[in-house]
Amino acid sequence: MRKLVSAALVLAVLAPAPVAIAHDGPDIARARRVAFPKLLDGRSVLAVDLHTHSVFSDGSVWPDVRVEEAKRDGLFAMAVSEHLEYQPKAADIPHKDRNRSFQIANQAATVKPDATGVNKQPLVVINGSEITKLAIQPGHMNAVFLTDANAMMPKAGLNAVDAACEQLKAANAQGGFTFWNHPYWTSQTPNGIATLDPVHADFIKQGLLHGIEVANGADMSDEAFKIALDNNLTILGTSDIHGLIDWDYDLANGGHRTATLVLTATETADGLKAALKAGATVAIYNDNLVGRRENVEAVVRSTLKIEVDKPLPNTTVVPVSVINDSPVDYILENAGPEGAYDEAHVFTVRAGSTFTLLVKNVPDASKLALTFKALNTYIAPREHLSVQLRDLTP
Ligand SMILES: [Zn+2]
Ligand SMILES: [Zn+2]
Repeated sequence: MRKLVSAALVLAVLAPAPVAIAHDGPDIARARRVAFPKLLDGRSVLAVDLHTHSVFSDGSVWPDVRVEEAKRDGLFAMAVSEHLEYQPKAADIPHKDRNRSFQIANQAATVKPDATGVNKQPLVVINGSEITKLAIQPGHMNAVFLTDANAMMPKAGLNAVDAACEQLKAANAQGGFTFWNHPYWTSQTPNGIATLDPVHADFIKQGLLHGIEVANGADMSDEAFKIALDNNLTILGTSDIHGLIDWDYDLANGGHRTATLVLTATETADGLKAALKAGATVAIYNDNLVGRRENVEAVVRSTLKIEVDKPLPNTTVVPVSVINDSPVDYILENAGPEGAYDEAHVFTVRAGSTFTLLVKNVPDASKLALTFKALNTYIAPREHLSVQLRDLTP
């Protein structure tokens, strides 16, 4: 609890709440970064994008552009995941080595040793491939953390399901992490509803398939989210970028690429892979946080706090500052126990900003606890996270 409250602050909170603009002006460089502070338990929150394309499949850019975008977005890691079976630019860009896109991106990400001789690597580039079956099943799946993408090429003479099964086995033999891509994509699922078919159920049962995209680019799927929760799959968001991040997202107004937050104690590629396999993730999609309760709650509790002031003179009305240390706007519903004197029940605390409200009827400000439902978080389809917050200021 703050000990002092100045007359100026009291006047300030009595006046209409100032509009805190987190993404003021053209400071896109700052606004676009998916930068989260560490969790309260000390783990890091690493933003990663495990699904990208370049001209080495059906993307529109050279792989070094993907690297530059990822750096600008503050990602810890990005995977190169060209289509194995779909090569519309092969006549112009022939390449027998399916690791080539990764090699170029990895080279672009490697920073020369500095004066101290330390070879700094500001972005981890992960080798990957997209298994691409045009039939409805098994559709598309990504395999990342590969050591050799060439070994992922489909074997001749097999049907699509058996070929995909062999490819997943090849990825697993390399220690890879695999996931089901856009299982609701209307090109392969015309009603837009993801359903767990026997083919993928079998891949999951065999331990060959570890995760699922609940959000891909501009899309999100409640049904994919439910499949993830029901089958203990890692929850992922990816951009599946083909064009430019700058064209697909409203970066100037605080937009972020669709990505995954990985909660890990170790900021290394191995630590990242272990956390992915353990399911310690939250998908970030259009400023929504989507994941298992414990993971979403860990992120929210490390980025949202309250500070409680002394009551206004001769009242039991207490100024409460709600502080958002995350790069996403939190849309909060005040679930009580009391409402605010000067706000509706739902309000937005912009990224990196503080929002002050006056809470009514607080007999003892030192004991105030407020429960907020974070409407831009999902811990199950259509279910938001609620957190009770207290002022923990020493
Ligand atoms: Zn795909
Ligand atoms: Zn793709």
